[in-house]
Parts: sequence; C-alpha cells; structure tokens
Amino acid sequence: KKIRVGVASCGVAAGAEAVMDLLKQRAGDIPVEGTGCLGHCYAEPMVEVVLENGDSVFYRDVKADDKAMQNILSVGPESRFEIPPARKAKELVKVLALAGRIDPTSFEDYVAHDGYKGLEKALAMTSQQVVDEVKLSGLRGRGGGGFPTGNKWGFLAAKQADEKILICNADEGDPGAFMDRSLMESAPHQVLEGMLIAAYATGATKLFIYCRAEYPMAIKHLKIAIAQIYEHKLNVVNGRELEIIIKEGAGAFVCGEETALIASLEGQRGTPRFRPPFPTDKGWMGHPSMINNVETFGNVPLILREGAAAFASVGTEGSKGTKLFALAGDLKHPGLVEVPMGTTLREIVFDIGGADPEKVKAVQTGGPSGGCIPVELFDTPVDYDSLRKLGAIMGSGGMIVIGKDRCMVETARYFLDFTHRESCGKCTFCRVGTTRMYETLERIVAGKGSMEDLALLEDLGPKIRMGSLCGLGQTAPNPVLATLRYYRHEYEAHVRDRQ
Ligand code: SF4
Repeated sequence: KKIRVGVASCGVAAGAEAVMDLLKQRAGDIPVEGTGCLGHCYAEPMVEVVLENGDSVFYRDVKADDKAMQNILSVGPESRFEIPPARKAKELVKVLALAGRIDPTSFEDYVAHDGYKGLEKALAMTSQQVVDEVKLSGLRGRGGGGFPTGNKWGFLAAKQADEKILICNADEGDPGAFMDRSLMESAPHQVLEGMLIAAYATGATKLFIYCRAEYPMAIKHLKIAIAQIYEHKLNVVNGRELEIIIKEGAGAFVCGEETALIASLEGQRGTPRFRPPFPTDKGWMGHPSMINNVETFGNVPLILREGAAAFASVGTEGSKGTKLFALAGDLKHPGLVEVPMGTTLREIVFDIGGADPEKVKAVQTGGPSGGCIPVELFDTPVDYDSLRKLGAIMGSGGMIVIGKDRCMVETARYFLDFTHRESCGKCTFCRVGTTRMYETLERIVAGKGSMEDLALLEDLGPKIRMGSLCGLGQTAPNPVLATLRYYRHEYEAHVRDRQ
C-alpha cells in the first residue's frame, strides 16, 4: 500500500503541501510520495491510495484535517473521485500517461515505467533511421506552428558543423495555457529523453531548455532530472558528451518566437530578426540550431518506443497523434486533457470540460494569437488545418470557454491589452497599430465608440498582419477580426447604446 499526493503547481495552489505533510505524520509505515498533475485541476488537492492488490482509490478536494486523514487512511467513502464517464470515453492519455502516476523527482520511477526505452531503441538505429521514423510518424510541432518535426530534424542533421544546438522552447506565454508547465513538472525525464533522442538524430551536442522563470517547480524538477542524467551518463550519446543547460527567461511573450528566443539565450534583448538566415543555418552564436517545444519533445519517446505506425494510427490525415489542451474559463472541469487530434470542440468543451451547452457562447483557441469560435461551429474537428479555416488557430493548446453573459468586445480588448503591451516595438504596425486598436476597443467598450471605429478596426487589422515581422504582430488582430466576423452585432450594440 502507498499514498500519492498531487503536488504539481495546481495541487500546491489548492493546499496539497499541507495535506502531504499531515499524511506523512499520520500514515505510519505507509509511504507517502508526491506526484504530478492528473489533469483534473478542478478537484485538487487530490490523493491516491494504491492498495495492496494494485487498485487505486482517488480522493478529491482533500483538506488538511483529521477527518480527511482518517477517511483516506481507512480508505473510507467520503470525497472519492471518479473520472467523469463522458471524459473517460473521449480522452486518450499517451503523452500524459505518467503525469500524476510517478514521482517526478525519481529517476528509478521513470525507468520502471518504460522510461529511456525510446532512447535505447534510437541508439540501436542509425541517426538517419531515427529522423525517418519521426518523419514517418507525422508528428508536427506542438508549439502552434505545426511544422513537420521530422523535416526540421532532417535540416539540422544535414548540416556539417563543429557544434550544433538543440533548444527546447519552454516559454509558454499564452494566457490560459499550462500544458508544457504541467508536463515538465510531472514527467521531466520524458521531455529530456525526447531531447536526447533528437540530439542523437541530429548530431547536436549543446542542449538548451529555455523556460520562463515563472515556472519554478518545472525548473526545479528539470534540474533534478538533468543531474540524474549526468549521474547515469545518459548524456554520453554516440561517444560524445552532451551539455544540458537550463536558461530562465524573464517571461516576455515575444521570446516564444524562435529568433527572439535565440537572442535572449545569447544574452541580448529578446527581439525577433528577419529570416533568412534560418536558425538551422545560423542560430545560437552562429551555430546551426533547432527549436522544438516541450510537448513536441514529450511525444518523441513514445514514437521511438511504440513505432511511427502506432503513433500515426491516431489522429486525422494531416494531424497525427494526440494533443494536450488546457481548459479554462466558463466550464465545470478546468484542467488539462489529452485527446486524439480530430476530436471536436463540442466533445472537448461539453463532454470533457463539463460546460453547460445552454450557457456557452464561444471558445477562444490559441490565446491572444487565436480567435474565438462560436458555439454553432463546435462540430469542427480540432486539428491544425480545420481551425485555421475558421479564422482561429490551434496554437499551443490553450482553450478559454466564453459564457453567454460575456461581452465579446471586452474579450477582444483583454487580448489586445496583452499583445500591445508585449509588442517588442520593432515594427511600427505592431507597436503603434495594436495600441491604436486597443484604444479603439476601449472607446467602444466605454460607450464612446462610433461606426467609424468599427471601420478603423477592420482597416487596421489586415495592415498589422501584413506589416509585422513576427508572429506576435501577424496574429495580434485575430481576436478582434474574429469577434467582428462572428459577433459584429455586439460591437454595433455598444455603438448604438451610445446614441
Ligand atoms: Fe516586435 Fe511586433 Fe515586430 Fe514582432 S511584430 S518584431 S513583436 S514589433
């Protein structure tokens, strides 16, 4: 028998550390260990009792008091947790399989759950075979761009250079997105295993993880895992010693853009630059460099362990595998979920998220770079291409559910407030244009807008998209243009109310 307490950031925020301390005092010989996030953030603090026969009993909303401790230690009936059946039927847990099921600080626990089997398999293949396997899997970048990962690896592998660089983008800046944080906190070795496989496939010898400083637990767990990798000499790949370095970012949204991220890694101000040259030609300190995000690396050990064909058997024609989504906003079950690509918005928001169909107006995908999708279009399958057709993007996986009583102009203003502040200022259209858009939205929300203001927004949006150097500016007008497209009547109502 043993007891696990979810002590990822969501658990800690709900008081899990006090629960764990008290359980340790009361549990006698029964081991009590910390684990990551199971995705049911709405039910934290969560405790799992693993019985002698291997079965588990879960408890939710556990309080650090005597009554709760007694109930758990006697495997009592109070506050038992079951995964809602509608969610169980729709989710497919692959990348998150170890989250909330292992001790993230234990190397042995990871290895006991098939950890580093993917690396072992990769090392028995040629590096070209590994690149081909990733190409065959159809994995596309999970950071939002959706570029085929195997092709990217192929570009770096083909470079002849003394030093090649691999970078894990752990900057996750979208409001409402926390997939990468959760994966790093809950299964840090899985991300690092993906990086080691990529280093073998491409010949990279210096490995960076660029993680925002606001993620202290993820950084702590990664540091522990890196020390364990060095201890077990897993960083010696193909006779070469790999260096793994964590760099803490200061939380600028624009540093998620790869050229800005590289500048920041070099110690310069994090601003994007023109491409070409592309990072695979000239990246960190002039060396060929490749950037993948956390979830992309998290998929790699599964591909190698189970094979590309097994991976590609899940998902849609153009979007293979599963995707993690962070659910937030007006719904009953906020948290993290993993579903096959191609699952509809309806299934994610209503069946999994538990939102009330009578009360939902729209969902915002892709954070401030994305767009809102009205409830009438919720039968859309979630994949890279379908969402783009609706004027939204999948982004890295943040989903904010918007209730019927929310004002869409106010929602667009919220996102523009974020993007105009985060603009690095290099391009006039992004710097001044997003500020003008924000001011216009403020005017409309305050009841001082006019129909000319609506025309101004529609005129500025495409110009900002065209005149901006990087993705931040190119996508900043999306929330405004999407709400104008689907909810123009709300803008007009604000203007009419004034008259
Ligand atoms: Fe900076 Fe905006 Fe230009 Fe990007 S688009 S480089 S954030 S000013």
